[in-house]
Amino acid sequence: DQVLRIRASSEEQIALLKELGELEDLQIDYWLSPAQPGLPVDARVPFRSLQAVKVFLESNTIPYTITVDDVQELLDEEKEAMMVSRKFERSSNSFSFSSYHTIEEIYSWMDNLVTENPDLVSKIQIGQSYEKRPLYVLKFSTGGVNRPAIWIDTGIHSREWITQATGVWTANKIVTEYGKDASLTAILDTVDIFFEIVTNPDGFAYTHSTNRMWRKTRSINAGSSCRGVDPNRNWDAGFGGPGSSSNPCAETYHGPSPHSESEVKSIVDFVLSHGNVKALLSIHSYSQMLLFPYGYKAEPAPDHQELNDLAREAVAALAELHGTKYTYGSTIDTIYQADGTTIDWSYDNGIKYSYTFELRDTGRYGFLLPASQIIPTAEETWLALMKIMEHVRDNPY
Ligand SMILES: [Zn+2]
Repeated sequence: DQVLRIRASSEEQIALLKELGELEDLQIDYWLSPAQPGLPVDARVPFRSLQAVKVFLESNTIPYTITVDDVQELLDEEKEAMMVSRKFERSSNSFSFSSYHTIEEIYSWMDNLVTENPDLVSKIQIGQSYEKRPLYVLKFSTGGVNRPAIWIDTGIHSREWITQATGVWTANKIVTEYGKDASLTAILDTVDIFFEIVTNPDGFAYTHSTNRMWRKTRSINAGSSCRGVDPNRNWDAGFGGPGSSSNPCAETYHGPSPHSESEVKSIVDFVLSHGNVKALLSIHSYSQMLLFPYGYKAEPAPDHQELNDLAREAVAALAELHGTKYTYGSTIDTIYQADGTTIDWSYDNGIKYSYTFELRDTGRYGFLLPASQIIPTAEETWLALMKIMEHVRDNPY
């Protein structure tokens, strides 16, 4: 397989690319979907369809370059790196934050974190996945009753491995910096943090066992042989609109009804019953963007100005470390209309500070970001997270 970076320059070309994606036998997997002229499109094309797709692009004078020449090579390198680090971890009895891990490894690491930091961290189960895996959330709290809270989730799209890895690093960062970093300590003195690292465990297990490129949940869709729902189109906020698909085979399939996915419903129930969540940060990859509501409508959010100002500060802080450049803005203005997304639901339910991160990179490796970038990515993301968390701490509402 190869990944092609395609540049469509007109609405007609965007329409052609969308049609191309609907031809089931080509099995094109859009990593970045055709949205609007000027925005890049990344397509993973199976080897057997490469010739046909390239001929199609050339005959329609749609320019493209090859960004990943051999997807298999990256997959092999990734697997090899995991094996090397697993060996190291066993021999040194340690956990490597600079490598990717399976769900079992992450869950066991979480248990250690809780055991070693019982005064700060606890583990809550908020539900179970379609395939009956537990949905675990780490709670960071220094006490109090139902304090204002910040929710963070990573990995709702299972193939975005940099996000779960960043989640692990970040959870560890919270415990190592509490009591040392004055600003984080001041946050945790008044605010609780809830962190769901493996938000789509069935999909994540499947990316390790069978298909590294799996994005959706693993639920069976009635009347279709295609499995899974896009858990970032399943929320009750503009559900079912044109910024999602009604085709169970599509990567953006919204599901049969809002909150049909237990992975989504469990968060909904938890957040609503908590009742005091003030920020919801949902972490994805890739594209290097910081997005806020809305995705399902063009109308600016009532807090647009504040959200935009805070996003600007957060991406500026992020860029200071390694020079990584993010764009920011509302989802619909920055990428495209997206319906039924996490942060539109949270915003519509009174959570003002609702943001989506799209972590590294901008397409050189896409979802196959080398493990050597985990720590730099997590470190820079932390600076943006801190900006937002400080703002939440200092602006109670
Ligand atoms: Zn995503």
